[in-house]
Amino acid sequence: MSVQTHSFFGDVLRHVDRAAAFTKHPPGLLDQIKQCNSVYHFRFPLRTGNGNVEVISAWRAEHSHHKLPVKGGIRYAPDVNEDEVKALAALMTYKCAIVNVPFGGGKGGIRIDPSKYSREQMERLTRRYTHELAKKNFIGPGIDVPAPDYGTGEKEMAWIVDTYIALNPGQLDASACVTGKPVSQGGIQGRREATGRGLYYALKEAASHADDMQRIGLSTGIDGKTIVVQGLGNVGYHAAKFCREDGARIIAIAEREGAIFNPSGLNEEEVFQHRRATGSILDFPESKNLSSTSEALELECDVLLPAALENQITEDNAPRIRARILLEGANGPTTPEAEEILLAKGVLIIPDVYANAGGVTVSYFEWLKNLSHVRFGRMGKRYDEAEDRRLLHAIEVATGKMFSEAERNSLIHGADELDLVNSGLEETMAVAYQEILETRRRIDGIEDLRTAAFYNALEKIARSYSELGIFP
Ligand code: GLU
Repeated sequence: MSVQTHSFFGDVLRHVDRAAAFTKHPPGLLDQIKQCNSVYHFRFPLRTGNGNVEVISAWRAEHSHHKLPVKGGIRYAPDVNEDEVKALAALMTYKCAIVNVPFGGGKGGIRIDPSKYSREQMERLTRRYTHELAKKNFIGPGIDVPAPDYGTGEKEMAWIVDTYIALNPGQLDASACVTGKPVSQGGIQGRREATGRGLYYALKEAASHADDMQRIGLSTGIDGKTIVVQGLGNVGYHAAKFCREDGARIIAIAEREGAIFNPSGLNEEEVFQHRRATGSILDFPESKNLSSTSEALELECDVLLPAALENQITEDNAPRIRARILLEGANGPTTPEAEEILLAKGVLIIPDVYANAGGVTVSYFEWLKNLSHVRFGRMGKRYDEAEDRRLLHAIEVATGKMFSEAERNSLIHGADELDLVNSGLEETMAVAYQEILETRRRIDGIEDLRTAAFYNALEKIARSYSELGIFP
């Protein structure tokens, strides 16, 4: 068994401490905010194919209860451990505060390699995990609401909600016990692509500021920017898609088995299909194989988008990173030591706690949908369309000019669920970015976006404690 030396939770604390130094909160309050409130580590048996029993290790960490429920994904990976789960739960607390999503932070994980188990075993594992959480009150619409993370997706969320409903018959809000569900099981349109779309909005915001772009030698806008993506999972795939559709060029994509490079641009969907068919990203037509994932990270590019796991950009490779913007899709991809090196080189870091918050933002919308028991847009869509029609008719009468069928179709549009989700997501990302910039402008000594974002989170969390009268 490998000995863990580097602490991810310790890294998060260092980011928080850097921001905390600019606040005036008493040490006791800061300590309460920083510590992880509860960690539940449990084990349960799983029968393996050959009749043996394997003991599975699992966790759920609830970092902060200053707002309820706590919220955060569940990760299935062979190296899940307590330090990681605590760090990820802490990041959720700050992330939610930064984008004004009214939740505390949580995270769960099961230490397994999902590729080694059958679908049936995965279902049993997931249902058992849910049972264990329910037994200890670590899941519920107003308590703790999991979601997908690395190694999990809609399928697992469907098993979780089904198990929870079975354990809580008649509980009207039971479907709000987990988000990221399939739409047919109470999920919401746009959740699957939400983290990637949020990353795109984050980049769009950052790239719209001429002064910041000028400082790093880039023009404004996404159009024409070159991007290197690490990880072609849900987050990397969708972030690449939305950026490419807005004119960016994806010049390299890295995955576990290696990386591919094509300076004229890659299409993420074609690469995804190639990987699915051949089992590898390598040997993609008209592109060059790179010897390793790390070679891709060090390519000259405008935007580097790590969208895999934590601890990818460290003091070892940071000196060789040649990107101008680091857009953090994964949670914790950059260590504090690496960050110092990158900031000294003038790299604009759009930090994970803000950049990848699109997922939890749309999870919040899904939770609201479940609690209100009605699809967004259901009440207003036809009404808005009728209003558009009346307006067009009035214009026709006043001007004597008739609109063509095509013009009518494009002008008459009531918002459906996906329109509203995307609009809410864009608004959330834009407002949070403005708040971060405002802090960077206002607080003397804060120059980077991560410290500004953590500062904002600390201010908001501290406010909820003082409103409770717990701290002055
Ligand atoms: N696992 C995602 C994250 O790290 C989403 C969490 C959620 O939707 O609750 O932000």
